[in-house]
Amino acid sequence: MEFEFWGVRGSIAAAGSRTARYGGNTTCLEVNTPDGVFIFDAGTGIRGLGGRLEQSGTAQCRLFFTHIHWDHIQGLPFFTPLYDPDFNIELYSAHDVIGAEALETALSDQMHAPTFPVPWDYLQSQRSFHNVPAEGVSFDETRISWCALTHPNGIAAYRIESGGHSLVFATDVEHVPEGADPKLVDFARNADVLIYDAQYTPEEYATRKNFGHSTWEIGIEVANKAGVESLFLTHHDPTHDDIFLDELAAKAESVRPGTRMTKEGLRIKLSGAI
Ligand SMILES: [Zn+2]
Ligand SMILES: [Zn+2]
Repeated sequence: MEFEFWGVRGSIAAAGSRTARYGGNTTCLEVNTPDGVFIFDAGTGIRGLGGRLEQSGTAQCRLFFTHIHWDHIQGLPFFTPLYDPDFNIELYSAHDVIGAEALETALSDQMHAPTFPVPWDYLQSQRSFHNVPAEGVSFDETRISWCALTHPNGIAAYRIESGGHSLVFATDVEHVPEGADPKLVDFARNADVLIYDAQYTPEEYATRKNFGHSTWEIGIEVANKAGVESLFLTHHDPTHDDIFLDELAAKAESVRPGTRMTKEGLRIKLSGAI
């Protein structure tokens, strides 16, 4: 299993020199297994991934949505495989959290006139919408399951397992008042990788309760309780520039050595110890 971050920013894209090192694009994660290309969320980062897929001659991908807030769908109209008649795209959402029908409505609505020039029906690619059932879904040797967590309008965390490796993608999640969400601790149990929402500092969180996001401290608590091997902190606040994120990274590293901040372009291959 190999994965790459194409967008790591939360809420809204934050381009500019002050965010250039970590990246300003909103959420998009690519996961490659022997069974194909799996994409999680279509924030503005998916634009770059689309170019890479077309250049590499890939003609198929599976795109999973954690939820449909703007920062997780707004890149899709600029994902060039959508316009390619030879490209097959399967779009998935977790049953009960969004549902395939609501997903299709949200994605086509964001391309409606007069706020977007190209309508959804114009797109030439082969597309199909799917629900991920409660028991998860398998593609040969790759298995993908989900868990509903706390976020305004709902959120699904995904767990991807392939070749003896496992990755949990838990963006846009808020913890419980006592700390780590026990549902996520169970869901992430013994995963190789946990990618966790750390949009706020613990100080910021005090005034942003119920906004649907968490902190690096709680991320560490989840990872420790779940026995996760590697923790990645993501969904960076648009006001947190590179220097600020360096400082948060150093704090997290001092509490749990090896904790990493996500960055655009960071690509990891899971093979043995990582
Ligand atoms: Zn978000
Ligand atoms: Zn959200």
